[in-house]
Amino acid sequence: MQKREFVYQARAARVVFGPGSLQHLEREVLELKSQRALILCSPEQKETGEAVAARLSARAAGVFDRAVMHVPLELAKEARALARELNADCAIAVGGGSTIGLGKAIALESDLPILAVPTTYAGSEMTPIYGITDAGLKKTGTDLRVLPKTVIYDAELTMSLPVALSVTSGINAIAHAAEALYSRDANPVTSLMAEEGIAALARALPVIVAHSQDVDARADAQYGAWLCGTVLGSVGMALHHKLCHTLGGSFNLPHAQTHTIVLPHALAYNRQAAPEAMKRIARALGSDDAATGIYELAKRCGAPLGLKDIGMSAEDVLKAADIASSNPYWNPRPIERDALLELLQNAFDGVTPSAASA
Ligand code: NAD
Repeated sequence: MQKREFVYQARAARVVFGPGSLQHLEREVLELKSQRALILCSPEQKETGEAVAARLSARAAGVFDRAVMHVPLELAKEARALARELNADCAIAVGGGSTIGLGKAIALESDLPILAVPTTYAGSEMTPIYGITDAGLKKTGTDLRVLPKTVIYDAELTMSLPVALSVTSGINAIAHAAEALYSRDANPVTSLMAEEGIAALARALPVIVAHSQDVDARADAQYGAWLCGTVLGSVGMALHHKLCHTLGGSFNLPHAQTHTIVLPHALAYNRQAAPEAMKRIARALGSDDAATGIYELAKRCGAPLGLKDIGMSAEDVLKAADIASSNPYWNPRPIERDALLELLQNAFDGVTPSAASA
């Protein structure tokens, strides 16, 4: 049954979509009324950042190629100072969530418009959510100023994303849409996008695993990532995102892999409390069950299945359950510490969610 009363907040962003669409970069910079762009990228994507600068020639003010995970405050300050020094009037973030996060940290204090060119499926480009790490503590917030004004989705830039990271990044995107479907403020429009986003990624990922250079599958995955990112920026998340935030922040586990491993177990935890959402997730996956469907997709695509396989130690399971159950937050099923511990133990071991959550 659809909700009859709801609030739907569209977030204004101009999206330029399609393989090869980076060719429109200069037009899009001018559209922002900008003349001098500072290009941001990670050290690993330095070549891509420099190619973007070369494409803009005189309209490129410089390249800052030191974006890293979790946006350290000192780095954000350095990038802001460089933007000022170069008289940049926009920032182009070419990369994954870490690079786009650096762009957001600049926009938060400078009103510089951000043009995002995402090269993973994490979805940060579609959200007004930012995170900055100061003295080891990651603070997150929401501010419309950090939302990129323009997003260019060019699948050709994702061809180099390693297959393993493509899979986990894609399931990271699916996690946004899955939680959006049972969000407290879900509405028919975001649910439509969420279901379509999951279906696009579930269709594209196995093709990417088999043929990593299939540009149509890459574009399909980007389309899904766009929709999943949009719903992440529109409605509240729940248990799954809280757990991944805890695991990433407290135990320094890799972002996309952690999402991939935890999602089936978080869905199994919420299975009885959100039956309509589960039906839609399962339908999008072409499966009978949402939790098992995600687990099978991850397994079929060769993703890691247990937290033990990505660097978590057995004694941290208890600590994680304590942290994740310490602050009350909304979830379709109330947070019960013992059930949470069981969920985390299952995710640690990598067992199938259906067997674990009966
Ligand atoms: P990432 O940006 O850290 O990238 C991972 C690695 O892949 C990096 O070394 C990067 O250089 C490399 N890479 C990226 N694209 C590539 C490509 N096409 N080819 C080759 N290498 C490539 O990873 P991510 O998963 O995109 O982002 C994770 C970060 O983003 C986390 O800190 C997370 O909290 C944040 N995030 C924020 C939001 C938000 O709304 N604020 C949403 C999602 C993720």
